[in-house]
Amino acid sequence: MPDRLDLGPHPHLGYTASALDRAANRRDERAKLAKLAESSNAGCYVMGGELVVLRNVGDALDPLFAAADARALGAVRDEVFLGLMRQAPRFGVGLDPASIESLKARNDLKITDLRTIAVQGLVDAGHLPPLAEAKALLGWHARHRFCPNCGAPTLAVQGGWRRDCPNCKAEHFPRTDPVVIMLAITGDRCVLGRSPRFAATMWSCLAGFAEPGETIEEAVRREVLEETGIACGRVSYFASQPWPFPSSLMIGCHAEALSEKIVIDRSEIEDARWFDREELALMLARRHPDGLTTPPPVAIAHHIIRSFVEDGGNVVL
Ligand SMILES: [Zn+2]
Repeated sequence: MPDRLDLGPHPHLGYTASALDRAANRRDERAKLAKLAESSNAGCYVMGGELVVLRNVGDALDPLFAAADARALGAVRDEVFLGLMRQAPRFGVGLDPASIESLKARNDLKITDLRTIAVQGLVDAGHLPPLAEAKALLGWHARHRFCPNCGAPTLAVQGGWRRDCPNCKAEHFPRTDPVVIMLAITGDRCVLGRSPRFAATMWSCLAGFAEPGETIEEAVRREVLEETGIACGRVSYFASQPWPFPSSLMIGCHAEALSEKIVIDRSEIEDARWFDREELALMLARRHPDGLTTPPPVAIAHHIIRSFVEDGGNVVL
């Protein structure tokens, strides 16, 4: 193999490696949870819709508020217990959208979305997993206020980890939607695609939701075939990543491409083509002569591509 660019140490994958103890055994202690929220070492992440509220603290931004301060920011729609960070209780507080909008005028706060926080490194990286947990869970509450079984309003219980229907007695749990994200590989080449939503120079892995009744491997093969016309054989798991936009679990894979001709489904993607490992290395290092890039390290696609560049991916062909 020719000499390839040294890409340096592996960067951290965003929203992963949470230091939080979810302390699920504490969720049914309603009175104790309320008391925990008032303790001096408790902290609340505050958000609404896509936006997160951060405090300006000197040159830094702090995402944690005392419970009383969090509640004073606006109309609270939901409160959830996230767990214990080295014994310090952590909660998520969901404000209604109008309250969030009104906070944008305040100089002591910064209101921005979680993608921007992660990509720009606006807060200590240790806050990203609990922020992702809070966003996915609070987003679920915001969209599941009525029983899908009978239509009656539901009530949050278990520290926000379940909603119960008082009418038909159904219990509803927060959902996580599996998304397969993959690199189809043959020899020294792999396929990347472009969505119309991407920045003009960015190429990434193909991806799509796993469907009911489908294995991860079947979803990988179906999505690659639908989007590019390429048939895939063996599929190997790489790593996963919570992706709280709104509540996905990205399941990263490498796949063995069995054909090479690309037939693009323009209703799904804008473009797709083959890339060799040399070109991908330049893209990862942001040194491509035409300015082409991969997604940043906060996204699992970056790591799936890098794994292929450095060791051929873990699809052993
Ligand atoms: Zn019901």
